[in-house]
Amino acid sequence: MGIVKTEAIILDSAEYSETSKLVRVFSPARGKLSVLAKGARRKGSRVGAGLEPFTHVNLTLYLKEAADLGTLKECEVIESFAYLREDLIKLALASLYIEAIRITLAPGARNYSLFKLTLAYLHALRKCRDSTGMTVHFLLKLLKDLGFQPALKGCVRCGATERIRYFHLRRGGVVCAACAGETAELVALNPGEYRVLKKSVETPVKSVVRIRLSRKQSKALLELLIRMLEYHLETRLRSVRFLDQMMLEIP
Ligand SMILES: [Zn+2]
Repeated sequence: MGIVKTEAIILDSAEYSETSKLVRVFSPARGKLSVLAKGARRKGSRVGAGLEPFTHVNLTLYLKEAADLGTLKECEVIESFAYLREDLIKLALASLYIEAIRITLAPGARNYSLFKLTLAYLHALRKCRDSTGMTVHFLLKLLKDLGFQPALKGCVRCGATERIRYFHLRRGGVVCAACAGETAELVALNPGEYRVLKKSVETPVKSVVRIRLSRKQSKALLELLIRMLEYHLETRLRSVRFLDQMMLEIP
């Protein structure tokens, strides 16, 4: 066994035994790792507190060469993102983002850009007023990082840039009114929503936070992005139900 030090974001945490936890983490250098934290459920455990989902930590692990299950030795909290426990809407949105990463990330798949993006999102979400709009921007960047950047320049069938009315899930891009046809894979997209999407994908992360969305646009685009993610990941995202419940409370 070797000792490995890695920065990480906690993706989820489960009880493993009376006294231990099993957590899954995102390490920029090692992708998705499972980590057994012995004694983490004991009262006053030094490591236990740092193992809540979303926490940004420095971990010291015992890890076998090429293994994706490690045993925790030390955990130092860099940032706990405690605001998520006080704002249920932000918690629901961040849960959606983290769930998508947990599903797509493979063990051993290093990804520094996605790690940086995820930290930028968790920091940006804290201070923003329009948390839904912010999540729309970051989910678009996430889709790009995962290789599913939506094609938005023009209709994916005929190339037209006018009368764009739908997003086609299977074709991964927008289609115009003339090419739409009838399929369950179309999601309606109004001109305002289309403009916001185009602007958001063209804008770098550090400036994207300044793009303003109306509440209606935020909600419609979030729904579209959830459908895109579920289509690409070929699964239903469990956090969507929690998010739907929270969203009902926003006027
Ligand atoms: Zn067309």
